This record gives sequence, structure tokens and C-alpha cells, in this order.
Amino acid sequence: MITMPQFRVLQPENVSQAVEFLAKHKNLRVLAGGSDLVVNLRNKLFTPEYVLDIKGIKDLQGIKENQDHFSIGTLTTLTEISQNPFIKEIYPVLAKAAGLVAGPNIRNMGTIGGNICLDTRCYWYNQSYFWRKSCNFCLKKDGDICHVAPGGKYCWAAYSGDTAPALLTLDASIKIANPKGEKTLALKDFFVMDGIKKYNLESNEIITEILIPKASAGLQGVYKKFRIRDSVDYPLAGVAIAGKVDKEGNCQKISVALTAVNPAPVLVTEITDLLVGKKLTDDLVEKSVELARKTAKPMKTTLSTMPYRRHMIGVFVKQGLEEILK
Ligand SMILES: Cc1cc2nc3c(=O)[nH]c(=O)nc-3n(C[C@H](O)[C@H](O)[C@H](O)COP(=O)(O)OP(=O)(O)OC[C@H]3O[C@@H](n4cnc5c(N)ncnc54)[C@H](O)[C@@H]3O)c2cc1C
Ligand code: SF4
Repeated sequence: MITMPQFRVLQPENVSQAVEFLAKHKNLRVLAGGSDLVVNLRNKLFTPEYVLDIKGIKDLQGIKENQDHFSIGTLTTLTEISQNPFIKEIYPVLAKAAGLVAGPNIRNMGTIGGNICLDTRCYWYNQSYFWRKSCNFCLKKDGDICHVAPGGKYCWAAYSGDTAPALLTLDASIKIANPKGEKTLALKDFFVMDGIKKYNLESNEIITEILIPKASAGLQGVYKKFRIRDSVDYPLAGVAIAGKVDKEGNCQKISVALTAVNPAPVLVTEITDLLVGKKLTDDLVEKSVELARKTAKPMKTTLSTMPYRRHMIGVFVKQGLEEILK
């Protein structure tokens, strides 16, 4: 029988109390909606002594306007983001990506902060303790070999969150609270191309807000996702695109990000360099598709094939660029 490990639950009422707990307890995991964490706890992928349940912190919810950006509280649910008329209008790529996470019940529970901090995924890792034990575990948890790339010392587990690539195309940042105070980090500097380390967040830090610049408001946006079951699954390949054309039909702004095909979500900046200032032609679409396909390095971390996932990245980039720039 799969059971939960034993832990103590801490329920801070505000961010400063949360940070006090973070400073005091080392072996701790943050719980937001719990839709990823609880599954991982049950699989004994995490065995914390304490779980910091931040859901009761009111200040971490909702969307606020500031001078040069909009701020989304880390506990804002994916349903709220995908259905908010304001977000749909000014940041459509984000609303679309949030609306394609899992299914409706998980979007009601799942938060934007939890979605960004999703653990990386691999067929050999997202399994019960008994299953993993029968395969002698792996580098990412409890073992010392990688079944995907035997002989290597690197974990290729795929980052499989849907909203991070959308936020990357909007040039978003995150606000982080820790015992020393607060800091802001560009989202592109948050992620790390390593399936074990995953991102730059210390064990005594929590994300409090997601900041999206007003300069990114009004960009057209698309998010396209390949998954096995359209009603609920994680992406196996995903592409977010935000951009706009000027009055003459030239590309004024374009930003393309990929998910689920590397250990981190990634911006394909070469496509921006290639397209800005130009009218989209079939030749430029083909070059962009090649740049995206080169950036995508899916490994055998799922039951879907690597060539098909790379192929779908190309298909989505072509469709998305044509929708936005033609
Ligand atoms: C059947 C199923 C299908 C799913 N499909 C998808 C999918 O299609 N796309 C997708 O992106 N996800 C999917 N998920 C994963 C998950 O449900 C979502 O990513 C969800 O948004 C996670 O948010 P949460 O609030 O529930 O996170 P939690 O489970 O509470 O936390 C997730 C991780 O983030 C950390 N964390 C949470 N909040 C913070 C914070 N403020 N600061 C620091 N760390 C924090 C937690 O410690 C944990 O490690 C799926 C899950 C299931 C069970
Ligand atoms: S890529 Fe290798 S080390 Fe990483 S989770 Fe999969 S099997 Fe484990």
C-alpha cells in the first residue's frame, strides 16, 4: 500500500512567519495546492520532517497593479489566471497556458507558484518507492545511475510545467522571500539545465509573487501542447509564443519558449534575432522551426519517442508564428 511519510505541518499566517519557519527548520517542503507535492510525498520522492502549508497566507493571492508591472500572488490558482478577463486580454499566452494545465479539478487546486516550481519528470523517477527500488533507483533519487543515459552523471528529467514558458515570453520575474528579506530574479535566470537542481531557490526561500512587465501587455500569444490524454496530461512538448507586428506587417516583437523537451524551460532567442524587423516568409518560418528543433533535446524520459516530441516542437512553432505574424 502507498502511504504518506510522517511529517509535521506548519501553517504560517503571513510571509514573515513563513520565513521564520524556513529559517528554523532545515528539512522542510513548501505546500501550495499540493497537486504535485502530495503525489511526490506518496512516492517517497521527498521525505521532509516539516511541510510548510502556505495556503492560509492571504497576501499571496490575487492580481495587483503596480507602477511598471502586474503582480500575480504565488497562490493564485490556474483556474483564476486562465479565466481572468484582464489576463486573457493583456497576457493571452499566459491565460492559454494556465488553461491547458492538467484538468479542471487540478487547475482549481494548483497555484501559479507551484506550477513554476514543479519537479522535473522522468519515467524512472515518477514511480512508487517499490517500483524505483526494483530498478535499483536512479541518480535523481536514492541511486547512482541514470537509466536514460547510463554512464553519465547528469539527470535529463524533463521540466514539464506549462506556465513557465508563457511567463518567459512575457519577460516575467519572480519575487522571493527568505530570512534576509526579499529579492527579485528574472525567471530566465531562475531555471537551471539540470534535472536534479532544477532552479535557483534555496531551501529557506519561497516565491511570493510573479511580476510581469506592463511593456509585455497587449502582445498576441499562443500556447501549444502535445500530450497523450488531452483531458489531463503533462506536456511532452510545449511551445509558447508572444509577439506583434507593426502597421507595415513587420515583426515588431517576438519571443518563443519551449517546455517539456529539456531539463528547464528555454527561450529560443535566436528566433527573436532572426525575425524582428522582418515580414514573415516561408523561408523564415522554416529557419525558425530548425532553430527551435535544435534547442529541443528531449531524452527517453517518457514513453513517447524523442523524434516525435522534437517534430511536434517544429509543428507548433510554425503554427504559432503564422498565427501571430501573418
Ligand atoms: C494528474 C496530474 C496531471 C497534471 N498535469 C499537469 C500539466 O498538464 N501541466 C503542468 O504544468 N502541471 C501538471 N500537473 C502538476 C501540478 O498539478 C501543477 O503543476 C500545479 O500547478 C502545481 O501547483 P500546486 O500549487 O498544486 O503545487 P504544489 O504541489 O503545492 O507544489 C509543487 C512544488 O512547488 C513547490 N512550491 C509551491 N509553491 C511554492 C512557493 N510559493 N515557493 C517555493 N516553492 C513552492 C512545492 O514545494 C513543490 O515542490 C499535474 C498533476 C497531476 C496530479
Ligand atoms: S534522467 Fe536519469 S537520473 Fe534523471 S530521473 Fe531519469 S533515470 Fe533518473
